[in-house]
Amino acid sequence: MPMNTGFSVRHRAARKGGVHSPGRLPAVVIGAGPYGLATAAWLSAAGTPRRVFGEPMECWYANMPAGMYLKSVPAASSISTPESGYRLEDFRAARGRGPVGDRYPIPVEEMIAYGRWFQERRLPELEREKVRAVEHVDGLFAVTLESGEEFLAGKVVMATGQVPFAYEPPELTGALPGELVSHTSRHRDLSRFSGQRVAVLGAGQSALESAALLHEAGALPTVIARAASVAFGSPPDTDRPSDRPRPVRILQPGSALGPGWSHVACCYGGGVIRHLPQGTRMRLLHNVLGPSGGWWLRPRMDDIPVLRGRTIRSAGAEDGTVQLDLVDADGHARVLRADHLLLATGYRVDVGRLGLLAPELRREIRTFQGVPRLSAGFESSVPGLYFTGLAAAPTFGPVLRFVAGTGFAARRLVRSVAAGTRTRP
Ligand SMILES: Cc1cc2nc3c(=O)[nH]c(=O)nc-3n(C[C@H](O)[C@H](O)[C@H](O)COP(=O)(O)OP(=O)(O)OC[C@H]3O[C@@H](n4cnc5c(N)ncnc54)[C@H](O)[C@@H]3O)c2cc1C
Repeated sequence: MPMNTGFSVRHRAARKGGVHSPGRLPAVVIGAGPYGLATAAWLSAAGTPRRVFGEPMECWYANMPAGMYLKSVPAASSISTPESGYRLEDFRAARGRGPVGDRYPIPVEEMIAYGRWFQERRLPELEREKVRAVEHVDGLFAVTLESGEEFLAGKVVMATGQVPFAYEPPELTGALPGELVSHTSRHRDLSRFSGQRVAVLGAGQSALESAALLHEAGALPTVIARAASVAFGSPPDTDRPSDRPRPVRILQPGSALGPGWSHVACCYGGGVIRHLPQGTRMRLLHNVLGPSGGWWLRPRMDDIPVLRGRTIRSAGAEDGTVQLDLVDADGHARVLRADHLLLATGYRVDVGRLGLLAPELRREIRTFQGVPRLSAGFESSVPGLYFTGLAAAPTFGPVLRFVAGTGFAARRLVRSVAAGTRTRP
């Protein structure tokens, strides 16, 4: 691994008429989740010099609960690469496991093993180290690693995922001491709550699956849902979409996001979505595949109380426990006491929270509602700085929230990085 020369990279970048041009320096990919791995694989195929950093699939084993199942079906859970032989089904075949269809919920442990297998075969050069800081110096990027090594990069791809964007409702900020409240992304092992009353805030997959896992681990969860009802998906009619009757396939064609023309449009229309008005894109992001639980969760929720149509008016701590003041649409109030409040409140993109980007660099990025404005090639208003994964979903649509979007994103992004050209964000 290259060592720090002791000669400040910022100094080198700032030298007028310096030898560095963005094209000669490596492109740096930060993050080795599905989007970082796919970007790196496509960069590698394009022959672009690159350095890729991160622990493979870290978010999946550190920030998601053990024992969870993926909501996406196997056909929509492969990490993209230009070469064949690296799909989830190839991994399963390599492990002596047979093919699986839409009725097979993928255990998170299988997805983690698949991601690591992909990395070992497709990206052995991955540097399993954290990037500490990125600064913008005279059109280049000064990258500092946790080890202290510093180097210059011509391009930087932020594939740092959703964890920095974990969302806490503002009305709860500071209302409870840290040990009484936490976001779901902070938990790998929910069995630590065994025997405790846990109020779970939210009505999406994360809330419902956390509640089921808490219940199965001997905790006493109560779900607090703002919506008047809690939705679950339906089990797929057939294991393979092609086995559905032809008229059904025409009315509701299959896609990586599930059957239906609107889902097909979101899967293939990212380039068009980018041109829609901002409000429409944000609505698409929140409403397509809105909050609901996977079909296999429904029976596991039978014994779990769900308080529907309730919001938290105020929260406080009393005798080391949580006291939640809940209110419904008619203004009826009730108090819920719990030992812990688990926030299954999702993620909201906000560039301001990406602490590894120097504050001056963050200020240079043009945003809307905290979201980076991106070109058709995923480049931000700072030339050479790219965002992929969830940070790009408000621009290109909901498929970017899922592994299924890795192909769309990596192809476009890598074309832009390799060409060194850019279109206006
Ligand atoms: C509970 C839950 C269930 C989900 N279920 C599904 C599902 O069923 N199907 C699906 O398609 N999607 C699912 N998702 C969404 C899924 O997480 C994303 O699709 C996917 O992880 C996005 O990949 P990514 O590479 O953008 O982000 P991540 O997987 O989050 O990877 C980002 C990586 O960047 C690394 N990183 C961050 N900062 C640095 C740094 N400074 N230096 C080096 N590395 C860094 C992190 O360690 C992390 O490994 C789920 C998400 C959650 C929270």
